[in-house]
Amino acid sequence: RAKRTGSGQVVVFEPEMHAEQLTRLELRADLQHALVAGQFRLDVQPLVRLATGELEGVEALLRWHHPRRGIVPPDQFIPITEETGLINEIGRWALREAVSHVASWRRLLPGLTVSVNVSARQITDDRFVTDVADALDSAGVDGSALTLELTETVLTTDPAKALTNLRLIKKRGVRLSVDDFGTGYSSLSYLRQFPVDQVKIDRSFVSGVTRSAQDNALVRAVVDLGRALHLEVVAEGIEDVEQLQALVRMGCDLGQGYHLHRPMDPQLFADVIQQGGRARSALMSTSSM
Ligand code: C2E
Ligand code: MG
Ligand code: MG
Ligand code: MG
Repeated sequence: RAKRTGSGQVVVFEPEMHAEQLTRLELRADLQHALVAGQFRLDVQPLVRLATGELEGVEALLRWHHPRRGIVPPDQFIPITEETGLINEIGRWALREAVSHVASWRRLLPGLTVSVNVSARQITDDRFVTDVADALDSAGVDGSALTLELTETVLTTDPAKALTNLRLIKKRGVRLSVDDFGTGYSSLSYLRQFPVDQVKIDRSFVSGVTRSAQDNALVRAVVDLGRALHLEVVAEGIEDVEQLQALVRMGCDLGQGYHLHRPMDPQLFADVIQQGGRARSALMSTSSM
């Protein structure tokens, strides 16, 4: 009925518990030592400037290499780390790792950026402002190399605290992006409240851009909104050439998705830089239609 986990906690298994709950309890216990055990890695997924095909930067995506389960995707463990508060330490590690990578890539391609996802517990933590400054200082890189991605939930948890911290961070030249834009209840009000530089149109809209007149109109509206408010617009989750072409025609600034590049090991991204961005040719053939 009970099982001792790696970190010494006892997890009680009730017969009526669902497998999903059991997994969650195990993951929760295993997460306690995952950071010191060196089980976290970052993957990076390129962001491409759609008008030219140029590499703009990458988004850093956290991966947990679990000793028995293999790679656990972030959707399965980030919520747990947010509950336990472990996200603060893990997020600090991810930030430093991402910033140190972009510092070295900028020697190959100046102006490259790295986007780092930030949770509510991080942005409302007093230490976060210092963490960002320390990460930039120890890598010796300008604040403009870093974009913080925040979702609606993150911005609405403690908006006053978030705003205070974001203003301090922005003094370093760090940019702010609203992730999964359009999925929230009051997305437009964030644009007024927070010093936003970029919006990322959620994949759920991008996937319908060539199939649904409604999604097409919504994506177009966000692109136009971005232009009017001087916000950079990113389309995430571009999976085929038709979607890419539609977004290029609308004048969307940046794109990200499996059709351009899959998330990859940071070591491989250096090769992509040296090849001038593998997605370039695909984009060039688009602009000749
Ligand atoms: P997100 O920030 O919206 O990240 C984009 C997700 O879409 C990534 O999933 C990426 O692999 C996936 N993706 C990219 N292009 C495509 C595509 O063309 N098709 C499809 N189907 N998917 C695509 P991933 O890596 O599993 O990350 C999921 C979420 O986990 C992220 O969503 C983000 O909210 C969170 N996350 C990832 N890394 C971190 C982190 O370091 N800190 C925090 N707080 N959250 C993170
Ligand atoms: Mg993101
Ligand atoms: Mg996103
Ligand atoms: Mg998303």
